[in-house]
Amino acid sequence: MQAFGPSWPDVARRVLGATSVLAVCAHPDDETFGLGALLAALADGGMRTAVLSLTRGEASTLGADVEDLAAERSRELAAAAAALGAQVAGLHDHPDGSLETVPMVELAGEVVAAADEVAADLLLVFDPGGVTGHPDHRRATEAALVAAGRMDRPVLAWTLPADVAEALNQELSTGFVGVEPALVDLELHVDRAAQLAAIACHGSQSEDNPVLRRRLELQGGVESTRWLRRTAAVHPPAPPTASGVSDTGRTARAARNPEGSQPRQGHGGAAGSTGDGLVAATIETT
Ligand SMILES: [Zn+2]
Repeated sequence: MQAFGPSWPDVARRVLGATSVLAVCAHPDDETFGLGALLAALADGGMRTAVLSLTRGEASTLGADVEDLAAERSRELAAAAAALGAQVAGLHDHPDGSLETVPMVELAGEVVAAADEVAADLLLVFDPGGVTGHPDHRRATEAALVAAGRMDRPVLAWTLPADVAEALNQELSTGFVGVEPALVDLELHVDRAAQLAAIACHGSQSEDNPVLRRRLELQGGVESTRWLRRTAAVHPPAPPTASGVSDTGRTARAARNPEGSQPRQGHGGAAGSTGDGLVAATIETT
């Protein structure tokens, strides 16, 4: 696992091997409540960022008193995406809560079309467990993976650490699906200012949302991600050293890492290889 300090967006292109990222989401607000801090950081780092939402989120029980919730949530998505520095690359009318009834070939085709539109070379998704446990989230990720297979693109998943998910489920009787530390590939330190601004844009969903507030509190300034699909562009083979063994660049890192990036407490582990000397200056393996 690799941990990145506050300067990681500056090396995002080298870390992620991409210049344009498409977030594939089920509902308006997923891009913000779930992926917002990551999207904002990537945009800050100079990457092109875009959002695809497969539904208009009309089935939400939050904001149920809004007359035309689908239209309101579409407006909220546009405002939130702008706050995150992202464009909306697609907003579809598939039924909120029933994405599994939409043929996979159709969903994957829409992901491919959106990715083509913004020349995405990386897809960002919810973890396959859906994070909150919502079946639409799982379906959206499945569609992204099918599309990525067709396009040969890498897929990075936003995950929730297992301890955070457990705490939420105990405190608030939620159904979060966490991921054990061993499965996390990248831990990214984030600034949540843009995400909080985007959350405010989702007025129909955020005004009375204690679960969201508590989750962000438990996550602190860290996002955990893992690769669902890698390509050669994301993880090129490490160059051989004089001894013929791949070098981690640990010596260079110790001398050149002024950030002193901190591994998240409770997520420590044995030191491992970064396998990528290019990013040694900002990587601290844990
Ligand atoms: Zn959602």
